Amino acid sequence: NKIIIAIDGYSSSGKSSMARALASSIGYRYVDSGAMYRAVTLWGLRRGIVSDGTVDEEALIAALPDIAIDFQPIPGEGQHTLLCGEDVESEIRSLRVSDNVSQVAVIPAVRHHLVALQQQFGREKGIVMDGRDIGTTVFPDAEMKVFVDASAETRAHRRFLELQQKGMEATYEDVLANVKQRDHIDTTRAESPLTKASDAISLDNSDMTIAEQNEWLIELYNR
Ligand code: C5P
Repeated sequence: NKIIIAIDGYSSSGKSSMARALASSIGYRYVDSGAMYRAVTLWGLRRGIVSDGTVDEEALIAALPDIAIDFQPIPGEGQHTLLCGEDVESEIRSLRVSDNVSQVAVIPAVRHHLVALQQQFGREKGIVMDGRDIGTTVFPDAEMKVFVDASAETRAHRRFLELQQKGMEATYEDVLANVKQRDHIDTTRAESPLTKASDAISLDNSDMTIAEQNEWLIELYNR
């Protein structure tokens, strides 16, 4: 009997890798809601509708029906994000997208559009979704909710190593500044701000290895 699992938390808290690992070990579908906000942002950046932290809201809202977002399963790798059919998985992780995505995610019409899409994924249970508002807004009735946190420095360090591994350019200082800026925008926006659902279980994984946090999550699931 399959359920919905919501994993929320701060930027680069490791929630995506935790969610992906849990989904794969229990045979559930994993959906990365942040990738959807990133794909909309990339679409806007390519057309100059989004640039340097400013968004032409009217133009972006008008374009929402044309911004097709989907996920393609990649054996052994989870899944890749598709923007109008194009695989944009690595481009949406760039610092350029990270620097603009929170400004796109404050726009209520963008959120309503993506939340509706996310809820469609949840129609078929057996799903693990990660994001900022999954347990509060997207699936307030999710059977299992986790809220993940770690210090800003720990999170920036992780994202910095990840970008380096992928050969993407960024300094640690830039990544830390970006993490702090996104925390600020995500927690202070008017529309479904980042906050822990009252019935979510908290995890601070600052001092945990990936193996330890995955084990913690699977134990919680098995309870
Ligand atoms: O999870 P990730 O860091 O890739 O998300 C990118 C950005 O998208 C976040 O900083 C946040 O501004 C936005 N987001 C959101 N709600 C979600 C998922 C992501 O506002 N459910």
